[in-house]
Amino acid sequence: MSTTDFPNATILGYPRIGPNRELKKAVESYWKGASTYAELNAAAEALQDRTIDRLVELGLSASDSSIPADFALYDQVLDTTAALGALPTRFADLAGTDGEVDTDAYFTLARGDKERQPLEMTKWFDTNYHYLVPEIGPTTTFRALADRLAGIVQRQSARGNTLRPVLVGPVTYLLLSKPEEGAPEGFDPLDRLDDAVAAYRGILAQLAAAGAEWVQFDEPGLVTERGSALVPLAEKAYAALAGDKEYDGVARPSLLVTTGYGTAGDIAAPGSGLAALAAAGVEAVHADLIRGEVPAAEQLAALGETRFVAGVVDGRNIWRNDLAASLRTLVSLEASVPGTISVATTTSLQHVPHDVALEQNLPEHLPGWLAFADQKVAEVLTLSKGLSAGSAAVEAEIAASDAAIEHRASFAGTRVESVRQRQAALTEQDFTRAPSAVRDEAQKARLGLPDLPTTTIGSFPQTGEVRKARAEFRAGKITADQYDEFLKAEIARVVELQEGLGLDVLVHGEPERNDMVQYFAENFDGFSETVNGWVQSYGSRCTRPSILWGDVTRPEAFTVPWTSYAQSLTAKPMKGMLTGPVTILAWSFVRNDQPLGETADQVALALRDEIADLEEAGTAIIQVDEPALRELLPLRAADQPAYLKWSVESFRLATSGVRTDTQIHTHLCYSEFGEVIAGIDGLAADVTSIEAARSKMEVAADLAEFGFGRGVGPGVYDIHSPRVPSVEEVESLIQTAVASVPVPQLWINPDCGLKTRAYEETVESLRNVVTATESARAAL
Ligand code: GLN
Ligand code: ZN
Repeated sequence: MSTTDFPNATILGYPRIGPNRELKKAVESYWKGASTYAELNAAAEALQDRTIDRLVELGLSASDSSIPADFALYDQVLDTTAALGALPTRFADLAGTDGEVDTDAYFTLARGDKERQPLEMTKWFDTNYHYLVPEIGPTTTFRALADRLAGIVQRQSARGNTLRPVLVGPVTYLLLSKPEEGAPEGFDPLDRLDDAVAAYRGILAQLAAAGAEWVQFDEPGLVTERGSALVPLAEKAYAALAGDKEYDGVARPSLLVTTGYGTAGDIAAPGSGLAALAAAGVEAVHADLIRGEVPAAEQLAALGETRFVAGVVDGRNIWRNDLAASLRTLVSLEASVPGTISVATTTSLQHVPHDVALEQNLPEHLPGWLAFADQKVAEVLTLSKGLSAGSAAVEAEIAASDAAIEHRASFAGTRVESVRQRQAALTEQDFTRAPSAVRDEAQKARLGLPDLPTTTIGSFPQTGEVRKARAEFRAGKITADQYDEFLKAEIARVVELQEGLGLDVLVHGEPERNDMVQYFAENFDGFSETVNGWVQSYGSRCTRPSILWGDVTRPEAFTVPWTSYAQSLTAKPMKGMLTGPVTILAWSFVRNDQPLGETADQVALALRDEIADLEEAGTAIIQVDEPALRELLPLRAADQPAYLKWSVESFRLATSGVRTDTQIHTHLCYSEFGEVIAGIDGLAADVTSIEAARSKMEVAADLAEFGFGRGVGPGVYDIHSPRVPSVEEVESLIQTAVASVPVPQLWINPDCGLKTRAYEETVESLRNVVTATESARAAL
């Protein structure tokens, strides 16, 4: 075993995309065939060098393993799949002669090819980052093929840097996997733990040979609902990994096991959680002290000689750390186990943008409140210095942090009295509408729609022309009037198209929206937008979340002019389109100085004002999208009821001010809602549209079983691919739905918005949807 100590300060990972999205550009150019593999590799290496040099400049040491080697080209879980050579059978032909997964094979797993769907993509714990789901079966081969990671370690070692390679740990890797198609009933990827661990041992040998002194295994799986049950498995796995002091004659790298995003197992129960990892012989364990609990003295004592890496700087938000409070926590930990505490982030910094200093357009008050990745590195170092040298050594930094907190708390926009008073005066009434049956009758009388009414989810294809006009307007190349004219012409075209297709409830197509959340952030007070605040969403895709920093208000109606204009062009009902409070929170960086539920209610009130104005302008149907409702669901079952309560209530607060004959729709992007169906019913939306085409209308059975009594539009056209569904196919989905859901409740619509589709397939698909609906109606 290596005798090197764990560094006093570290981060678990750093944004991989590059301050100017260099990785995105390099990878996409390679995919397009516009650059060679050598060029891609050169760009990736340049970014690795830049990252390490920057971290050293910020103060992390280049020589003590405090810098993680976490340089996935696409996704860290996919990197682990490649390092294990764990190819699903359906991709077996991609393996090289020794089973290796080269860069092209790696990208094929991520993006699919002509014959094959890519690996499924799903959310990494409760974040907006998406990973590629490994497919593991009883015969999946696990190998030790960490050549790329070893190569990075070696190349940096030649530059004088000792890095700490990072991999997803074996328990979490298998927990996040799904059984590959054809695996026997009841097969669990975790059944393959021993085989995977054997391969991980080989990987450790490779990394040891490359000169790694520490290796980081991320095990956030231990914080999930199944976490406690997995602790014995984790203990066994790590005992096997840590058992040998040498691999192939080279000292085994020391092991750090991290458990971000929550609390590892039952940290409080002696002998489980972190203590079990320590007992297994790993040299350092990390815990997230912001999402998880701060361990008590006896829990720390149970770790023995094992280094405790305290995650006190939040890897998931962009707020400046309360250094005084963090230092108090660290000092109390240190007091119970002197000399064994290191300071770290709670998770990788992959969830935050690079650098506040790159933001030139933020309002003056804001930058001082923020910490992006680079600022967080500095915070970790300050805290580490404060811990070792005493708080006097970091007096100036603590004073600056205190001043920022004070400024934030007393700043005018942080607390807006009128908002506070309005919130305080809310009563049950504000969350309640007339009974469903009463609404149903009033709405049916007002709208006069046929059975199985057809509609779409909101956006129409955002063509190159739309994006070009928006960019020209932003750049000042066209005037606001010219841009307005352009948008109106676009709306008129989309309305005419829908009329021609014979759809029953129309939309304006959302051409004025760059993004369904940012558009609202731009029109509400209390939010700011960054220019360069990109974070990786998946692969080369990045999002730029808005910052919700203050009390939220809506200065003036902003969707109404577009909806009213669209309505003026048709006699059919035109839906008003809004994004719901939970989704607005989920896809923004949200203030951390009050409970999320309180912030959600403020957003709800701002939406409620917009809804009142839409109604006033004559809009009979208003849709409030909540595709992220499921996304924020807490990892632990015990935390879920409280979440469902505030999230569902905020939706009701936004939508309950309307008349009985105004119809409220909502759209949810997913169909696996067995576990939250009661919550969704609690939204009390008159009509709910959901995804269903890909799962062949499986959701119909859930709806029937639950006895869902509201209007529902299970998607009959999968908009996620350019494929045009045939009339017969759509008809058969409608028939399946009709068999489970009473006809008066059933709506016909695509799975989701059409924004990412091209007109070619969209028009044909919608035509088939209308034709199929007509024949389904005839058969009723
Ligand atoms: N109304 C939005 C659209 O159609 C909904 C998008 C979504 O659900 N993600 O684009
Ligand atoms: Zn959707």
